[in-house]
Amino acid sequence: MNHTKYIFVTGGVTSSLGKGIISASLAKLLQARGIRVTIQKLDPYINIDPGTLNPYEHGECFVTNDGAETDLDLGHYERFLNIPTSQANNITTGRIYQSVINKERKGDYLGKTVQVIPHITDEIKESVKKLGADGDFDVVITEIGGTVGDIESLPFVEAVRQLKWELQNKCIVIHLTLVPYLAAAGELKTKPTQHSVKTMLELGVQPDVLVCRTEHHLDDEIRSKIARFCNVSENAVIESRDANSIYRVPLLMQDEQLDQVVLEKLGMENNTPDLSKWKQFLHNLDNLKHEVNIGLVGKYVELQDSYKSIVEAIQHAGVSSNTKVNINWIHSEGITEGTANAKLNNLQGILVAPGFGERGIEGKIMAVQYARENNIPFLGICLGMQCAVIEFARNVLNLKDAHTVEIDKTTPFPVINMMEEQKFINNLGGTMRLGEYECKVQKDSNIYKSYGDTIINERHRHRFEFNNQYLTQFEEKGMISTGKNPQTDLVETVEIPNHKWFVGVQFHPEYKSSVEEPHPLFISFVEAALDQ
Ligand code: GLN
Repeated sequence: MNHTKYIFVTGGVTSSLGKGIISASLAKLLQARGIRVTIQKLDPYINIDPGTLNPYEHGECFVTNDGAETDLDLGHYERFLNIPTSQANNITTGRIYQSVINKERKGDYLGKTVQVIPHITDEIKESVKKLGADGDFDVVITEIGGTVGDIESLPFVEAVRQLKWELQNKCIVIHLTLVPYLAAAGELKTKPTQHSVKTMLELGVQPDVLVCRTEHHLDDEIRSKIARFCNVSENAVIESRDANSIYRVPLLMQDEQLDQVVLEKLGMENNTPDLSKWKQFLHNLDNLKHEVNIGLVGKYVELQDSYKSIVEAIQHAGVSSNTKVNINWIHSEGITEGTANAKLNNLQGILVAPGFGERGIEGKIMAVQYARENNIPFLGICLGMQCAVIEFARNVLNLKDAHTVEIDKTTPFPVINMMEEQKFINNLGGTMRLGEYECKVQKDSNIYKSYGDTIINERHRHRFEFNNQYLTQFEEKGMISTGKNPQTDLVETVEIPNHKWFVGVQFHPEYKSSVEEPHPLFISFVEAALDQ
């Protein structure tokens, strides 16, 4: 008998109410009681996954160990829970339809007319129950993207309705809404919440808990009004106020007893949560002694969500090194020979971010040059490492036309090429190297000092690779490869030993940093910057 319980988190009134953070916070509060919990995100868009989305559309694409390109909320889940997610944790409408259509082509539906109900909804239900099927989790939290009432999310809400009926007391629905404050009336307004719950009811779903995003305290009168109009118990009307750090939200939710209400409704035992590590992190966050300025050079800086995991990893590392890290957002397109000094001279560390395509690449290369020549601690991630290689080739090896074939296919000096590309065929028919790969680390390197290990495992998301034909030339002139893939010999890390701290990594360390396990490479980078 499977005892897994299911919690659905829906949103109403408006987007950006913080469903992902509320889901992650609730999961944390359950996990702190020893409950085995995972979180899943169902996204109503038609893309198969966010891998092909421009970061301006949807923020960062988060990559899991198994190489799934997923919604950035999965990053929050991992950072809060400190356990890995996988492809099963992120399903889109596109993936659901793809699977149904593939089955239809194979004849699996035995001549039936394939319809949204039951075929699409069954597929959605399968994706939800799959996470609970192995008995690895006591609770599966499923966050439904979008806002109820949207055409796109209808099949998902219908699947929730059916599951709620089938699973009875093993399933609850938490609905997030907005309780706006009208300054002119001097009042909090409950009508949008009432309407949103009505929309849910029209779709056949009665929420069990309401989490109300508000800028002001919800007094007892407002709570009882919401409870009365929306058929929920008063203690299930939860106030969700803005917090100055997302990491404070679990404690705010604990104060509001969200966890207790949920456990009660699911008939689960309510023992005392152990949040000591989490509270220690928050205490440290409030008492940082040092301060440092780090430049984040990228081309999507207008939308900071594009670099979500990097920003969070820097913050985790800052707390671990007792340091408030100020991130200076620097647009790579704005860095030219004339502006580099003015834009970069007040920084104690420079991070050149990942990215795709040509735009902003010369600015990134210039930022690398500035860090290298001025002995400023440098961390290059993915495209950031590739820019470090190009810069070194042009300005130290004197290969003036050095480039990556991603951008210039005719370069006589392709120091980044597609040599190994064909080995990494992903399911889109693309050629991305995705997910976790092993890297063998050279002793005495910065990477080794940081990780304290000769074998590390990190996640990848890129097409292009260091061109090993040039490795000897690089090493002779002082840029060495300190980490390689043991099976393929692909260069995974480069360093300049004759520099204060200069590290480029082909992988994405940011995906593995969490509150309880800040990433060692970011810690070393922040500490090198602090030492500047
Ligand atoms: N565009 C580069 C590649 O595909 C780098 C990708 C990245 O930074 N994630 O290799």
